[in-house]
Amino acid sequence: MALITGKKCGDEEMGALGLETEVAEARTTFDSGKTKGFEWRKSQLEALLRLLQEKEEDMLKVLKEDLGKHRVEAYRDEVGALTKSVDNALLNLKKWMAPEKVSLPLVAVPTVAEIVPEPLGVVLVMSSWNFPIGLSLEPMIGAIAAGNAAILKPSELAPATSEFLAVEVPKYLDCEAIKVIQGGPQVAEQLLDLKWDKIFFTGSAQVGRIVMTAAAKHLTPVTLELGGKCPAIFDSLKSSRDQRMAVGRVAGAKWGSCLGQACIGIDYLLVTDEYAPTLIELLKGVIKEFFSNSEHLARIVNKHHFQRLCNLLQDESVAASLVHGGSVNAEELFIEPTILLNPPLDKEIMTEEIFGPLLPIITLKKIEDSIEFLRARPKPLVIYAFTHDEKFKQRIVDDTSSGCVMFNDTLIQYLCDTIPFGGVGQSGFGQYHGKFSFDNFSNRKPVGRRNFLIEFSFRYPPWNEKKLQL
Ligand code: NAD
Repeated sequence: MALITGKKCGDEEMGALGLETEVAEARTTFDSGKTKGFEWRKSQLEALLRLLQEKEEDMLKVLKEDLGKHRVEAYRDEVGALTKSVDNALLNLKKWMAPEKVSLPLVAVPTVAEIVPEPLGVVLVMSSWNFPIGLSLEPMIGAIAAGNAAILKPSELAPATSEFLAVEVPKYLDCEAIKVIQGGPQVAEQLLDLKWDKIFFTGSAQVGRIVMTAAAKHLTPVTLELGGKCPAIFDSLKSSRDQRMAVGRVAGAKWGSCLGQACIGIDYLLVTDEYAPTLIELLKGVIKEFFSNSEHLARIVNKHHFQRLCNLLQDESVAASLVHGGSVNAEELFIEPTILLNPPLDKEIMTEEIFGPLLPIITLKKIEDSIEFLRARPKPLVIYAFTHDEKFKQRIVDDTSSGCVMFNDTLIQYLCDTIPFGGVGQSGFGQYHGKFSFDNFSNRKPVGRRNFLIEFSFRYPPWNEKKLQL
């Protein structure tokens, strides 16, 4: 049974009582023990894989409808990335579920112990609109693999995708345990009011605060995958081949993935005064090469965000910094790849996450000054740096803090299941992907086992000095 199937996304669609009934059913299912076994988890992951394979075209279609994503981009960033993640979970599920033997200190002899991962219970996954399938189902893979019942609330700002998930997920997955509930902030607030065993949230820091406040009421653990404002440091690379490759990777991360509406996309560049003119010319070249046909670029999600981005550009001092692009098409919700040189640092474009195709380039006297620049700002989701200088790389690792550091490439970390994905400080907390997702949705429960063969009386009163010596 799909929830709210056939109705429009909206706040008024399902009353709080309906939500409670659905969540109660998921809890009854979890309490029955159905979701805990290996076979159930495997069958659900296989079903998810079937959904990804059989409904691939439908997914590419709704992603085009909601965000104008080109089918190749949509496959690469969402359907393909998810397929890889489900494959990986299926391959490793048995290993992840197995108790982990641990050694104990002498004081515990002859106790033995292991860490047994147990599911948390009924979990809530709330996702954002920019990768509306990827960021909905990626956490669900972890929730299912770890043996939980899970409720997904996709973003109402990607309505075609939200509807797709509400209709298709219940056709493939066990709808007594896995449910999709559509709706906006009001529905989200009603959901947040209920008791959960975990809330996994992807979205803005502003709503992240609301999630944490609601979770505090029930002492519910949360993972917050929040905003980016990810910088890329661009050192003056010597070889023209390396330069070309590097600007291609910058362009891919700034414009080629949801038109800059990506949490791990590049927000702004840091470069030396001296190198900036070269970099700007290189960027103009790559924009022409990659994006001459605007059909290969996504669209801004809605009028509100389109206007927000236009307002950033309309500020007089920001407009004065324009060196490339800047044209907008309100009908198509399109803003062309745009470069700004040294917009004022106290303007919104540099104090808030841009989340769009505007690329500020901030110049510094020396590239090493970028470290102080970053240290003076909130911790980003990712710091990118293009450089050959090994000492500088080490300083970036040692002297800055971020969810991830990536040298000489962009975005690829999202596809690497063996490294954790997540933020720090203002960019969030809690990590997922691969085994980290499984752990995120598990309680790693230590289980100790001892026998009755021996007893040490020094553990118990009556106390005496001799016992202190032992
Ligand atoms: P958002 O915070 O507006 O919405 C996220 C979710 O919260 C949606 O499901 C929405 O319905 C719900 N929501 C909205 N208002 C609410 C309210 N008042 N009370 C309760 N729930 C509410 O975020 P968004 O606009 O969908 O996404 C953009 C933000 O997400 C950006 O900041 C971006 O960087 C961040 N993001 C982070 C990651 C990551 O992995 N770290 C990934 C994608 C997006």
